[in-house]
Amino acid sequence: MQTYVLCSQCDLQEGACKCDRYCCYCHGQQSVRLCMDGKYYCPDCREACEISVVPTNDR
Ligand SMILES: [Zn+2]
Ligand SMILES: [Zn+2]
Repeated sequence: MQTYVLCSQCDLQEGACKCDRYCCYCHGQQSVRLCMDGKYYCPDCREACEISVVPTNDR
């Protein structure tokens, strides 16, 4: 099962997204990752919102 979550700004997957990435919550730029709702979150806010990172399709 694969989940494709697209960046809410450019409708591309995280790997293709060239947006300026910052946490949608605190606007921090450190270690932000695309999460299941199509927005970027830093680790702290991810934890606070209990939202999970989009799984990458690494082998
Ligand atoms: Zn984007
Ligand atoms: Zn944050």
